[in-house]
Amino acid sequence: MQIQIPTQVEHIIKILNRDGYEAYAVGGCVRDTLLGRSPEDWDITTSAKPEQVKALFHRTIDTGIQHGTVTVMMGGVGYEVTTYRIDGEYEDGRHPKQVEFTSNLLEDLKRRDFTINAMAYSHETGIVDAFGGMEDLKNRIIRCVGDPVERFTEDALRILRAIRFSAQLDFQVEQETWNAIGMIGPNLRKVSRERVQMELTKLLCSGHPERISQVYETGVSPYVSAEFAALPWKEAEIPVSLSPIKYVRWAGFLRCGRDAQKAVQILKDLKLDNDTIGRVKTLVAWSGKELEPEPAQVRRAMSRMEPEVWDALMDLNGYSLEIRKLTDQIRRSGDCLDLKHLAVKGQDLIAAGVKPGKMLGEILNRMLDEVLEHPEKNKKELLLKEFEGLWLS
Ligand code: ATP
Ligand code: MG
Repeated sequence: MQIQIPTQVEHIIKILNRDGYEAYAVGGCVRDTLLGRSPEDWDITTSAKPEQVKALFHRTIDTGIQHGTVTVMMGGVGYEVTTYRIDGEYEDGRHPKQVEFTSNLLEDLKRRDFTINAMAYSHETGIVDAFGGMEDLKNRIIRCVGDPVERFTEDALRILRAIRFSAQLDFQVEQETWNAIGMIGPNLRKVSRERVQMELTKLLCSGHPERISQVYETGVSPYVSAEFAALPWKEAEIPVSLSPIKYVRWAGFLRCGRDAQKAVQILKDLKLDNDTIGRVKTLVAWSGKELEPEPAQVRRAMSRMEPEVWDALMDLNGYSLEIRKLTDQIRRSGDCLDLKHLAVKGQDLIAAGVKPGKMLGEILNRMLDEVLEHPEKNKKELLLKEFEGLWLS
């Protein structure tokens, strides 16, 4: 069976072959190509040792030499070329103590997590499928290579990878694999919170964000965090029409808890970045709020968040077409929505005799309030005149 692979990948394989080494495209790229999806990146597995790979290509980067990975640069794109390896004993449920190179492709495929991720391909050999990956692709099944209890014990991150792939590919987790997830779940505590977060984020940003339910159904949610486990996940509604930007999807899920502070705690525990946390906090706080299609109300709401966060809120709350039209109007007329665009600045107030301090900020906010109600009043002289009673009295 022939599949399409990029000419650069073909070229890298050919150069390795020419010097007597075996080389194949492997893993996710083979899986995705067979599914008719376009792979994000192409990985190559080879019998050549890292030093031998480096000697054959002009531009290489030492990505993970100790694990056998060299990145070969070609046409401005990097391709990870990794030596066939056997993962050594796992110390901490995550990292192999050492890796051992092997000259046997099958040994390398055996260390991979799922049957659908354990296939290799070259034009010369065709598809190498030692664990029934093709069959599982056809039946849309996520199944561990080998004994799932052993495989999850070696590396607990695979638990979340199984659920994440199920969401990305719309596959079912095979029963034995599912049972093993429940058994080995507690080992997830040993996995770094960043890695846990990255899998959950990929899951939520996938075509089936509702499969976050599987994290609960398998019983592993307490090993994400206690707050995460306590969410009323059955009430979650995450429409797949929501934009797959991480803060939008996280908000779409976490709003089921109806508590912005708890949402913040969950995301902090998972080491999400502050931008994302801030936006999710706003969205969860505003989630479910009714809004009249009335210009001042819409401007007030818009003034409380960044433009793209407001767009996301309209989607989350299913705001009406009228509110969307008002939003367009407000943006087109350039109405002032924040202190940065207020015609009066702090310096103007100081020049008018206001002492720097708390009062000054309060006056500016009163003015902004007025302008949100009456955008035509965003004029320096007019505002100073209207509000001078606040400091002249
Ligand atoms: P994607 O890039 O879409 O996340 P992928 O299958 O390419 O999917 P990667 O994390 O890029 O996943 O890993 C590439 C390959 O390495 C996988 O297809 C799999 O064969 C192997 N692999 C990755 N992580 C693990 C793991 N934790 N345990 C065993 N094998 C793994
Ligand atoms: Mg990949």
